[in-house]
Amino acid sequence: MKVILFDIDGTLLRCDGAGKRSMMRACIDVFGTAGGMEDINFQGKTDLYLIRQSLIPAGLDETEVMRGIGELRSRYTSYLSEAMRNGAGTLLPGVPPLLERLSAAPGTLLGVLTGNFRSGAAVKLERFDLGGFFRFGVYGDDVTDRNEMPPVARDLARAITGVDLSYGDMVIVGDTSHDIECARSVSAVSLCVGTGWDDRENLIALEPDFYFDDLGDTDAVVRAILPRHGQAGTQNGTGVQST
Ligand SMILES: [Mg+2]
Repeated sequence: MKVILFDIDGTLLRCDGAGKRSMMRACIDVFGTAGGMEDINFQGKTDLYLIRQSLIPAGLDETEVMRGIGELRSRYTSYLSEAMRNGAGTLLPGVPPLLERLSAAPGTLLGVLTGNFRSGAAVKLERFDLGGFFRFGVYGDDVTDRNEMPPVARDLARAITGVDLSYGDMVIVGDTSHDIECARSVSAVSLCVGTGWDDRENLIALEPDFYFDDLGDTDAVVRAILPRHGQAGTQNGTGVQST
């Protein structure tokens, strides 16, 4: 059994700023300010972390922020959904064929592991009809720190399959140093992709188990994730196995 967990932003798709704009608009609606959100780098962070980091230094207290979270999430999801309906977002190379191959392979379970609120993740995945590939997800609603997510994913995978998964059979696919660190925190396999905003050389220097500039070479990525199921194909030089 292999559990393959995908980050969303910068890994499967890009929102081209629609996520941040929607979150700032919702913060202003609910709290009267987005605090320092404009200047915060969203990459690899959970939504809850971003909201706290933006609003608490701006003078709101923790209780006040947590009391408004439900309303904030609802407005954010609605604004994001509107932006996506109007065409915001970009699907990244190779994503649908890769998800088709991985989800059809025997003994695999695909999930999302994302800092997004569950409702925001659903909007983003539905924008490109990707939701059906994932049997479960760990989201940013419940945890502030990404490194708290793999144990939750392991419990959910056990509930679905009845199998006690070893972290060595968990693959975490993401585009930032935070995704690599998250995999490393439990000794899961890290597959890093260069379609986000992190610098390529910096990502490779962190020595993920696998690095690809994008997910476009389906055969090569499947071979990395599922060595026994990957079809023979030619290396085109975009994949770097860094260990
Ligand atoms: Mg990401």
